[in-house]
Amino acid sequence: MAATIIDGKARAASLRSEVAAGVADFVAAHGRAPGLTVVLVGDDPASNVYVRSKGKATTEAGMISGEHRLPATVTEADLLALVAALNADPAVDGILVQLPLPKHIDADRVIAAIDPAKDVDGFHPVNAGRLATGLAALVPCTPSGCLILIEDALGDISGAEALVIGRSNIVGKPMAALLTAKSATVTLAHSRTRDLAGHVGRADIVVAAVGIPAMVKGDWLKPGACVIDVGINRVTAADGTSRLVGDVDFASALPRAGSITPVPGGVGPMTIACLLANTLKAARARAA
Ligand code: NAD
Repeated sequence: MAATIIDGKARAASLRSEVAAGVADFVAAHGRAPGLTVVLVGDDPASNVYVRSKGKATTEAGMISGEHRLPATVTEADLLALVAALNADPAVDGILVQLPLPKHIDADRVIAAIDPAKDVDGFHPVNAGRLATGLAALVPCTPSGCLILIEDALGDISGAEALVIGRSNIVGKPMAALLTAKSATVTLAHSRTRDLAGHVGRADIVVAAVGIPAMVKGDWLKPGACVIDVGINRVTAADGTSRLVGDVDFASALPRAGSITPVPGGVGPMTIACLLANTLKAARARAA
């Protein structure tokens, strides 16, 4: 039987309306709307698209969207000064510095300069440490979205075998921490992992966050597995047309998986919805 295709767009829409309702309550209680400010350095076209859609989603949720566009030549000192000003601004609840940053700027230093209470990306070492130790934290948006989709599909995942492929700080590692907190038995695979197919074959849950088109083959999967495809890869066909594909070979996975996210329309929309949820959470914590 073919897998259930997980509709990330619909799930994200329902999360966004929950957030909008929470924002309306926040405004009624505090007389101001939560504010999310995005900082974009340079003119990377993909980052431009992300920043524009984040701004639109923020406004649609009833929040105040701020945007600072800095030239690619900005100094690290000037960027750090802007972050300090946003940290001090009471109207700003969430600060997001769009990555990647130009090479002359130390991204780790910039992330560490953001007030952890306003770190809606959840990348600050304080939030990463709080997540790892089971304390309340602002959690990175993409793995948060993946966890919602997994729990919608499977319910309680206590004791389930979960495989996360990819160990980045923004997806793989926090995903492994979230699944561990839900009492799954977690394996974190990466570029040095031996016998990836064998690991995939044992997993009830597979989260692929690698960036290699269609690397996970359908016949590797345990029948009925829940497959969450984080990868976003643009591939060009022989006729010159291009399209987005994930890290999982969707066509061969569909007949074998129990449930699977498509690319696009799976994890991607959840990321922005979780960013809005994080901004509301940060605003509530700051107002408490
Ligand atoms: P990254 O490049 O930082 O990390 C990739 C990880 O894959 C590394 O940990 C590496 O060890 C691992 N890896 C590389 N080759 C491998 C192999 N052959 N076998 C097993 N593991 C291997 O990437 P990232 O930032 O975590 O992003 C991963 C993918 O997810 C990219 O395609 C990115 O575009 C996408 N992404 C999507 C969203 C979204 O909202 N849907 C958000 C973030 C990232």
